[in-house]
Amino acid sequence: MTPVLEVKNLKTYFRTPFGLGKAVDGISFSIGKGETFALVGESGCGKSVTALSIMQLVPGPHGFIAEGECFLNGKEITGLSESEKRKIRGNNISMIFQEPMTSLNPVFTIGEQIVEAVKLHHKKSSREARDIAVGMLGKVRLKSPETLFKEYPHRLSGGMRQRVMIAMALACKPDLLIADEPTTSLDVTIQREILNLIKELQTEMFASVLLISHNLAVVFENANRVGVMYGGKIVEMSGTKDIFRNPMHPYTIKLLRAAPGVEKRTKPLDTIPGAVPASVDFPAGCRFSGRCHREMEGCAAMEPPLYGRENSHLVTHLVTHLAAHLVACHLYDPGFMSKPYSRPLGKIPEAAPLPALPHKDRETLLTVKGLKYYYPVKKGILKKTTGYLRAVDGIDLTVRKGSTLALVGESGCGKTTAGKAILKLIEPTEGNVIFKGCDITRLSGRGLLPYRSLMQIIFQDPYSSLDPRMMAGDIIEEGLKSLKPGLGKKSRKERVSRVLDMVGLTPDMRNRYPHEFSGGQRQRIGIARVLAVEPEFIVCDEATSSLDVSVQAQILNLLKSIQQDFGLSFLFITHDLSIVEYMADEVAVMYDGKIVESGTVEEIFTNPKEEYTKRLLLAVPRIEVA
Ligand code: SF4
Repeated sequence: MTPVLEVKNLKTYFRTPFGLGKAVDGISFSIGKGETFALVGESGCGKSVTALSIMQLVPGPHGFIAEGECFLNGKEITGLSESEKRKIRGNNISMIFQEPMTSLNPVFTIGEQIVEAVKLHHKKSSREARDIAVGMLGKVRLKSPETLFKEYPHRLSGGMRQRVMIAMALACKPDLLIADEPTTSLDVTIQREILNLIKELQTEMFASVLLISHNLAVVFENANRVGVMYGGKIVEMSGTKDIFRNPMHPYTIKLLRAAPGVEKRTKPLDTIPGAVPASVDFPAGCRFSGRCHREMEGCAAMEPPLYGRENSHLVTHLVTHLAAHLVACHLYDPGFMSKPYSRPLGKIPEAAPLPALPHKDRETLLTVKGLKYYYPVKKGILKKTTGYLRAVDGIDLTVRKGSTLALVGESGCGKTTAGKAILKLIEPTEGNVIFKGCDITRLSGRGLLPYRSLMQIIFQDPYSSLDPRMMAGDIIEEGLKSLKPGLGKKSRKERVSRVLDMVGLTPDMRNRYPHEFSGGQRQRIGIARVLAVEPEFIVCDEATSSLDVSVQAQILNLLKSIQQDFGLSFLFITHDLSIVEYMADEVAVMYDGKIVESGTVEEIFTNPKEEYTKRLLLAVPRIEVA
């Protein structure tokens, strides 16, 4: 049977001032009818460029398809004219993007945008197109589709906008749906609903799906087959269960080990040293060399082709070879392994186990009693307060010394507002925050200053929280100047060097600007800035949610090790429950401004009492390979 999509030796390159960037460099795969094929890998591995290449949306003139072909239902689509490409997009192939706001036009209503797509690709009257649009909005379970039809995108929540995107993508009944990180920015419960919805609609329309995600549990639950991308190439490809049960490529093994989970609580997460090499600067041989814990002497010089698993012979007919487990690593080539250059380098040691977690019976550091924060709702030209929005509505929390309390719940439940109110970054409406025996809600100005350095926050987006015009060293020193005014210049410089070292950055990096660092390194600068003022309590507000799983593992390991070295306490605000299982000692579940349930991680995860907690836990995607 002809696959719906067949990609053969696709190469998509970009002309850059530094040379030719080989973002996608000779990948081949196919997707059968009704099948879901997932591409996984760190940012910068070429997943999204692959999707754009299939959509014929590679941004020119710098980007171009240098070689290879894509076939849709047996017909070649690479090299079509602009008008032919437009016919295929939306009609035969649709795409759901990570951030729906970037692909919904803010000046047109939802309905107008879906109607336009339907009319463009199917010869339908305005009336018929309208009926299809309203029907699709209902199908993606948006309430009152007739009313929503007339709404503008900015008036909808993130989850609703994502549903609109799905409705738009499926309105023309495409053969292939490309979903690029479709749920990354969503809460776990909305994520579950959206993925179930895509599955249902896929079954109903028998569409094929190319799923791109860095969430391995989402891939495990939704894909039939998986391709692991690294450095613009597919380095491993097989059935989903096969890859998760028996990963072969060292990169896949590391990626799977880097994902947090309860079974890894007493060990550091496995990390992948270094970063994905720039696409203009790939090593001549295996692109994973330099980061690989199994690297051999000849790996950096010789590029491994894809080998089949059963007989370890070179697979040359891999394009439609749906059943094989393919891997690009010299470890599976008997010819390579019999040569002297297969001697292991052994230069990257495996992570050492963490010392045992401290006993949970620790003294109280922070107590929150009846904390409230109400936003005034203002209306009219005079902005008169007409009511209050109860963002945080009387919460009680206790954080023990040297331990982590996780605050979980869906977006909009008040977690971030609670974190800010606890730190007095916003003035609480009511309640007390007792830190080391002192009620800080009664303090202000100079009285609060000593507590400002003891209670710190790490933000979600390291890029927007670092001043792009300041060098890393100055960013860290700036906090010291204001919060530790007694420190002289020499002591400040010494402390900056010390914290840079603590977070795994080198002293020369103090003279670099934020844009010269990777996402993980920027988050390390954010952590270094916080550590420099010697806090005892840190609010981590979605501190790792914008990071790849491999970088996330590095940051979580770092936070755990500094917690153990310095006895720090964390309030970990997150919607990722696998991180909670790994990091936290205790959990408080927040809903609609209130704490609905709290307890130890074991109590909440094994025996949740409240319906809301149960729903939240059921929505978590899991990798269950047994
Ligand atoms: Fe590691 Fe060598 Fe295999 Fe590359 S070829 S993944 S460096 S063992």
